[in-house]
Amino acid sequence: METKPYSVFGEEWLIRKDDEVNLLVSKCKGCGSQWFPQKEICPTCFSQEREIVPLEGEGEIYSYTTLTVTSKRFQAPLNIAYVDYPGDVRVCGQIVGDDIQIGKKAKLIFDKIAQEKDGTDVFSYKFKVE
Ligand SMILES: [Zn+2]
Repeated sequence: METKPYSVFGEEWLIRKDDEVNLLVSKCKGCGSQWFPQKEICPTCFSQEREIVPLEGEGEIYSYTTLTVTSKRFQAPLNIAYVDYPGDVRVCGQIVGDDIQIGKKAKLIFDKIAQEKDGTDVFSYKFKVE
């Protein structure tokens, strides 16, 4: 499968091997809070000391919605979710699956998320309900 990294989330944002993907979060050395997308300055304690670490643990759906109107790059209807991870990390992304519900486990996958005007498929992380 030929893939093109999503322009916002390149190699500094995720680790990928074939269809498996994990995200890289910023972890504050001051207070330990973790963020995705990564932050240069910790929004909690304003420390600039951070390290980039892989996201750990299982994701659980905090909330989700279905978009019925999207820009032309995306195909509606499109489900978007906030997924919570251990360490108070909340990640937003597209979600797929037949039974999307708050509280269910969600797994990160690497899949098509959009299509450019020239027909190029854009791949990145998304969630799949387990
Ligand atoms: Zn902090």
